[in-house]
Amino acid sequence: MNLLLFDIDGTLLLSGGAGKVAMERSFETVWGIRDALRTVPLMGRTDPGIVRQVLQENGFPQDDSKIEKFREYYFWYLEEEIGLDRPGKALCPGVLPLLKALSGAQNIELGLLTGNWRYSGLIKLRYFGIDGFFRIGAYADDSMNRDALVPVAMERFRQAHGMSPAPETVFVIGDTPFDIRCGKPHGVRTVAVATGVHAADELQAEFPDFLFADLTHTDEVVNVLTG
Ligand SMILES: [Mg+2]
Repeated sequence: MNLLLFDIDGTLLLSGGAGKVAMERSFETVWGIRDALRTVPLMGRTDPGIVRQVLQENGFPQDDSKIEKFREYYFWYLEEEIGLDRPGKALCPGVLPLLKALSGAQNIELGLLTGNWRYSGLIKLRYFGIDGFFRIGAYADDSMNRDALVPVAMERFRQAHGMSPAPETVFVIGDTPFDIRCGKPHGVRTVAVATGVHAADELQAEFPDFLFADLTHTDEVVNVLTG
């Protein structure tokens, strides 16, 4: 059985900036920091990693109770922002037909490996009606270091199926160099998709096992992910 671990933002969907706006509103509410994300890169980072970096850059202590408050505001604002009209907000091309094809395929476990917290990831997936496809996941709640998430997802697979997945049957699918790099140390296969901000040649420089411009060629992608 193959375990497929999809990144969310830039791979499955584009929130049209809803995530960024919801975070900035939360920084302003909890710490009074305006335009918190102006200088902080988001792509491929984990949510708690972003929070800690913003606090550090703005000279605030890493106060866990305030970070928990931030999370609550963020979930609240994200629910609101994801529902607004936003240019660019969409499922990435080919995602829905691909998920339908994979969910009907034999010996495939669909999962998530994301820098989102579990609940903010769910908010995004649910908005687009694709939350029901995924049974296994590793999230920023598990570690704020993306590189630690592959073993977490593999352990969840073991708990669900009673056997550990062989590394060559695990696929990490994502749109940034961080997605590819987080798979390499664990010997799993990496699949880059150039539907986020990174161009195909930037992703190729990380030597993913497979690289797609997007996920529109369903049969071709299914062949790779079921192979
Ligand atoms: Mg991404």
